[in-house]
Amino acid sequence: VDRADAAALDAADALADRREAFRLPDGVIYLDGNSLGALQPAVAERIRTVVTDEWGEGLIRSWNAAGWVSLPHQVAERIAPLLGATSDEVAVTDSTSANLFKALVAARRLRPGRRMILTDDRNFPSDVYVAGGVAALLADTEVVVVASDEVEDRLADDVAVLTLTHVDYRTGGLHDAARLTAAAHRAGALTVWDLSHSAGAVAVDLAGWAADLAVGCTYKYLNGGPGAPAYLYAARRHHDALDAPIRGWHGHAAPFDFSADYAAGPGADRFLGGTPPIISLAALDTALAVWDGVDVDAVVDKSRRLTDAFIERVDDRLAGLGVEVLSPRDRRDRGAQVSLRHDHALPVMQALIARGLIGDVRPPDVLRFGFSPLYVRFVDVWDAVERLHDVLVSRVFESPTYQQRPTVT
Ligand SMILES: *Cc1c(COP(=O)(O)O)cnc(C)c1O
Repeated sequence: VDRADAAALDAADALADRREAFRLPDGVIYLDGNSLGALQPAVAERIRTVVTDEWGEGLIRSWNAAGWVSLPHQVAERIAPLLGATSDEVAVTDSTSANLFKALVAARRLRPGRRMILTDDRNFPSDVYVAGGVAALLADTEVVVVASDEVEDRLADDVAVLTLTHVDYRTGGLHDAARLTAAAHRAGALTVWDLSHSAGAVAVDLAGWAADLAVGCTYKYLNGGPGAPAYLYAARRHHDALDAPIRGWHGHAAPFDFSADYAAGPGADRFLGGTPPIISLAALDTALAVWDGVDVDAVVDKSRRLTDAFIERVDDRLAGLGVEVLSPRDRRDRGAQVSLRHDHALPVMQALIARGLIGDVRPPDVLRFGFSPLYVRFVDVWDAVERLHDVLVSRVFESPTYQQRPTVT
């Protein structure tokens, strides 16, 4: 294999044209779409229109005239097919953390008499903090964190909710969501899945898994922009019983009746809470248009082929240079991310970024590379490993320039 083989794979790639919707800086290989997806110029244009025309000229009339009021539904309709859901099961607003809080409180309340919110030690730390906040708020509730391979054994009649992140942020390892959801149900528990590193990159089928609730982020593989509104999924069979802990007017059945009494809105709408962030919702709406006509299976397949190609090339080219592949080698067990261990991960990444290869690091020694299938090419995989090779062989990462830890990694 050589670079021409990689170029041939790009030439044969049915998704290749999607890259044209994005704008990536010249000379940059962007392998951090798992942390912040890339910009599409159409999104910048939409934001300009919303701000200058709809807000500036239309003022408050734009809630009706520009369709602001229906934006949460419009975006839910775009996201639902990526989740294996229907749009009445999806609410788009707030951050993933806030939606996780709402989902956990609502799920815990559906299982009175059960104390435990169960999670594993591979979960995203912030998700465990949020669960801890829920336990501190609700009576007779505690969070129990177990090793990943002990989750199924720990599921018993004291577990109210099993909450897990589908793709491990550190290693890219993937949970078997269908199996774990079934195990939770056998124990009488509900599931709350975090799909932040999943939707848009790996196979997600909430209906097929029989999942109960889920949340996820839209600024990673869905390219909504920094801090873009997140989604909350609630399976239709739970709709009548679910009580949203934030009973805001936009989650009310009739917000503009200004009724003295609360009446939950239909389906997942009850989780909308307050006024949705219109500028970022509009940006997300346009960002998601790139998925029109895209076969999600082809995207999942491409993410597996890209990550396979990267691992293969790392094995060939970086042998003896101090890196170790941390991600599962079986493509069915990993997300669209490959993590490498290196003793000097932080300075290595800083040196790579200075050379135009952007990934990120996680403590203590993990280099992460994300392969967003809509805009990463096979030649990028090839070139990325060449840049890694240069940095590792030259040991340029030992330079004092690269030892400082930035605030955001
Ligand atoms: C990115 C990510 C989040 C983000 O949460 P915010 O509320 O947007 O900060 C949450 N959970 C997981 C697993 C993530 O990867």
